[in-house]
Amino acid sequence: MNLPFRTRTVSTAIVIPSAIIVAALAVLEYRWSTGVSEATAVRLADSLQMSLMNWQKDFFRYFSEIGLSLRIDPVEEAPGDVGKYVRRFAEWKAVAKYPDLVQNLYLLKSGGTALRLNVPAGRFEPAPWPQVFEPLRADLTRASAASPDIRGVFGKDDPAAGWRFDPAVFALVHPVFSGSPHVPSVDWIAIQLNRGEVRSKMLADLSRTYFQGTDGLDYLIAVIANGPHPEVMYSSDPGFGSPEPADADGTISLFARTPERGAGSAAVHVFHVPLDNKGPDPSVRIAWFPFLRNSAPNADWRLVVRHRRGGALGAFVVEMRRRDLAIGFGVLLVLAVNMAMLIVTSHRAQRLAQMQMDFVTAVSHELRTPLTVIISGADNICNGVVATGRQMAQYGAVIGNQARQLVGLVERILLFAAARQGQLKYTLRPLDVRRAVDEALSGSAGLIEAAHTRVECEVAENLPPVAGDPDGLSQCLQNLITNAVKYGNGQNWIGIRASEHAGRHGGPEVRISVSDRGIGIDPADLPHIFEPFYRSASVRAAQIHGTGLGLPLSLSIAEAMHGRLDVSSTPGHGTTFTLSLPAA
Ligand code: ADP
Repeated sequence: MNLPFRTRTVSTAIVIPSAIIVAALAVLEYRWSTGVSEATAVRLADSLQMSLMNWQKDFFRYFSEIGLSLRIDPVEEAPGDVGKYVRRFAEWKAVAKYPDLVQNLYLLKSGGTALRLNVPAGRFEPAPWPQVFEPLRADLTRASAASPDIRGVFGKDDPAAGWRFDPAVFALVHPVFSGSPHVPSVDWIAIQLNRGEVRSKMLADLSRTYFQGTDGLDYLIAVIANGPHPEVMYSSDPGFGSPEPADADGTISLFARTPERGAGSAAVHVFHVPLDNKGPDPSVRIAWFPFLRNSAPNADWRLVVRHRRGGALGAFVVEMRRRDLAIGFGVLLVLAVNMAMLIVTSHRAQRLAQMQMDFVTAVSHELRTPLTVIISGADNICNGVVATGRQMAQYGAVIGNQARQLVGLVERILLFAAARQGQLKYTLRPLDVRRAVDEALSGSAGLIEAAHTRVECEVAENLPPVAGDPDGLSQCLQNLITNAVKYGNGQNWIGIRASEHAGRHGGPEVRISVSDRGIGIDPADLPHIFEPFYRSASVRAAQIHGTGLGLPLSLSIAEAMHGRLDVSSTPGHGTTFTLSLPAA
């Protein structure tokens, strides 16, 4: 069935722009999601970098607070007065967040002796040179000897000048001047830090401060001390940090030393570098932590973090983008499918409307012919054209036939309506096939005779009865016989055969076929001929009367009797409809 040109144009005018819009939306979605994912990655990376740097700044602050509070100006503050250290240390301890951070406070004399602060007694007492400082001894002695004016070496104005942190000894050391300003002798103050306090309290607190989420730490966190034997100083989760994870989301060199990463690496590293900003100039090193200025470069510590949920954060962002894209494209796909369905549905609705119009026209035609015959017959009788009793009988027969055709048509329409509303329910009972075929033939006898059609009927012997409804079966066969006569193309032949076969579900079935040698059915029409109101273009063009209801009705009847209706046809050679019914 061809749709009117205007309808097709309107459909095309809607479909093409809609398809373009969906495609454009898909492209935009892709671009936006790339942009959003880039922005998310930048935001996450920025916030991570901020947390890393703040973490490190606080770490630095806790160390530098002790150093600064114990710093004695060599010129202004009488460096020989060791009591000052005692007082300053007590002041620091009173306000410090981690008062137990200092394990021991020593004054190491260049002559090889040492003083150790007795905290409860509030004074320095002589003590042997501590064993742990042995590795430093040669270093300190050399520095003392090489620096007649130590102020020139460390710089007077830098409050942190001269402090160094030696991770191996776990102590902060700084030169102290005794003697006169003109003949300085260099001793050292050494603050031995409490390893346990740093590891279990300070590092754990810092991690909680900067990486705490709603449900525990958001990140796996480790602080790794580098050196010949890397050591995990702190780990939020057992096992994390050893070995250092390759897919860390962020790392920061706590003392701004990154020798193992090569000269090109920066002190802070996060998982994402924005495309339009290739990150900090690798040649610029950030010297966050001046304590280490004079220490061995391979003794740095590194803070390493990796996102806890969904693996590394970088992978999480990529995954998030993939998910967003999948959802976006999924929605667009649903939109496209809905559009396609809308188009198909509206196309079908238009086709149905067109078919119904064809049906109304066809029914009107079907009604008009018998009505015209009846009216003209009645007129003739009224006008006295019919004179004899014999003529009267002939007229009566003609009028009766036409009226029966009308009744048949009306009944077919009513039956079709009942079938469509699901009201076609038969009480099945065993039926003799030969009898059913004979009844259908006698019901169509008028038509067969009028068309001078020869009927070849072959019903196999001893056929089992079928389960069916006599009226329904007769109606179904009559529809097929009528079509065979109507579309017989002047061959004036129909063949009816009935035989027993094995059914699809194993039980026996009887197949009744109605064949003709007529115009046949075009393969393009075959899928549609059981649709209500459908009539092939060729029969409409040939002006063969019909309503397009016969086959849908026959199919409904066959199905109501648990049977099937199949068709095979060769255009120009003929058609065979086969009704298969299960044996009773
Ligand atoms: P109608 O015959 O009233 O048009 P049907 O539902 O019985 O309606 O048939 C639908 C269409 O199937 C027919 O219009 C015709 O195109 C095709 N058709 C049915 N039976 C035959 C047949 N025996 N030979 C050729 N075409 C047929």
